[in-house]
Amino acid sequence: MITDAHSLLKKHYGYDSFRTGQEEIIEYILNGNRTMGIMPTGGGKSICYQIPALLLPGVTIVISPLISLMKDQVDELNQIGIPSTYINSSLTASEVNEQLFLMEIGEYKLVYVAPERLEAPSFLSALKNMQISLVAVDEAHCLSQWGHDFRPSYLRIPELVQQIPNTPPVLALTATSTPEVTKDICSALTIDDEHTIQTGFSRSNLSFHVLKGVDRDRYIKEYVQRNNDDSGIIYAATRKEVDRIFSTLQSLDVSVGKYHGGMTNDERQSMQEQFVYDNIKVMVATNAFGMGINKSNVRYVIHYQMPRNIESYYQEAGRAGRDGEKSECILLFSPQDTRIQQFLIEQTALSDSRKENEYRKLQSMVNYCHTESCLQSYILEYFGDTEEAKIPCGRCHHCVDDREAEDVTKEAQMVFSCIKRMRESFGKTMVSQVLVGSSNKKVKQFSFHELTTYGLLKEKTQKEVSQFIDYLVASQFLEMSDSGFPVLKLTDNAVSVLKGELQVTRKVERKPRVLSKSHP
Ligand code: ADP
Ligand code: ZN
Repeated sequence: MITDAHSLLKKHYGYDSFRTGQEEIIEYILNGNRTMGIMPTGGGKSICYQIPALLLPGVTIVISPLISLMKDQVDELNQIGIPSTYINSSLTASEVNEQLFLMEIGEYKLVYVAPERLEAPSFLSALKNMQISLVAVDEAHCLSQWGHDFRPSYLRIPELVQQIPNTPPVLALTATSTPEVTKDICSALTIDDEHTIQTGFSRSNLSFHVLKGVDRDRYIKEYVQRNNDDSGIIYAATRKEVDRIFSTLQSLDVSVGKYHGGMTNDERQSMQEQFVYDNIKVMVATNAFGMGINKSNVRYVIHYQMPRNIESYYQEAGRAGRDGEKSECILLFSPQDTRIQQFLIEQTALSDSRKENEYRKLQSMVNYCHTESCLQSYILEYFGDTEEAKIPCGRCHHCVDDREAEDVTKEAQMVFSCIKRMRESFGKTMVSQVLVGSSNKKVKQFSFHELTTYGLLKEKTQKEVSQFIDYLVASQFLEMSDSGFPVLKLTDNAVSVLKGELQVTRKVERKPRVLSKSHP
């Protein structure tokens, strides 16, 4: 059967060989196994269920949360000779019935549905008269409460799939899954480890950069003008910010578009098309932009603000360089980004434990901004790709930073013992105030001015000490407790440093610098 898969790959898609992971996944499915595929964005997940759909006798159901993309996906499939349709809330009841009828008489190989559809009793009972050969669950991380995009409508998928006659194999697919989330998905859908395929997360053509303390507006203006032949995306956190950046760039001689949820469907559609066809070079957008957009020559993705977690960041940044050419992913960080994200989490209606989970994810994102080791490795480690994470990428901001590291063990010991004396019950602001010897009222109130560590770093500014603490957190000497009020605690590493068993090194304070393609 796998040779048939090869000829279908050539026949319908025009490709000569499978990409990493595709062939194994297809083989598992054809053998009737429940399978999980974790592949990076652009890795070629769709083919993993489309080719089995062609090879298996009945219909393949694809569950996807992205209703707005279904039509495009289905149009594309029909164009390459794979009969397909979708059933979602954009159809009238009689249109749904018509599609179900056509499904039943074998007109389609693939049918895309939103997860809610499975809950409709009429849909499930219609399936009873059909041969369903495979159920593909796209964006499977939506199934896990610990994922970054949990959707309640996904929760019932495992149970509903059980009700489909002859229990077809299931393929769960995602681009962003931490080990915790993968475990959750596999247990819900009873997929065993043996049939879980994770292809490398690393993207060898992307170089990651974090810039702190730059004038962001000036930076993007210069960057965009310097790279005016290239396509790029600039992500901003709010619609207002998108509008503002858009106007700023428009006043320069840059072909710029914008995209956010406050625009009409037509406006967004038109912007998107112009970007895909290269009429617009730079797209300024909220995170509403990008899902399912297949533009391969995006040369850079700049985040004007820090996103809320690594999953979102890697997904958005990963839209650069799908064609395999060198591309840059730049994050412009400012400490207030953290407070905004904390505020947004606080405002959600999530349960306490899920909020805590969100804070934890946010802290990992903040640590990414403060680490001084390889950024690619940091991301790979986060997604559990430990083997690949061992090798520094050689391209990112830190890998190309050839400054000497200084021994800062003594300063680190001062910070650690101060935190210890403050009983590991205070946050960064208070600890840095005590270390610089601030005469702040609260410091006096807790009698911290009587501690032996009071004023130990008085030759530094409070901001410098605070940044040093960020670095110590990102380097896993300190941790922030997860609750709403972040409290600094020592890790085992810090204890070793206090005992003189471990050194702390740091590269000298970085001056903001301007990036260019040839000299990142
Ligand atoms: P994902 O869903 O994982 O983000 P897609 O399924 O949209 O990725 O595939 C991304 C791109 O890679 C598409 O243009 C697709 O046609 C292409 N692609 C997939 N498999 C192969 C292959 N074996 N050889 C070459 N290109 C492929
Ligand atoms: Zn690196």
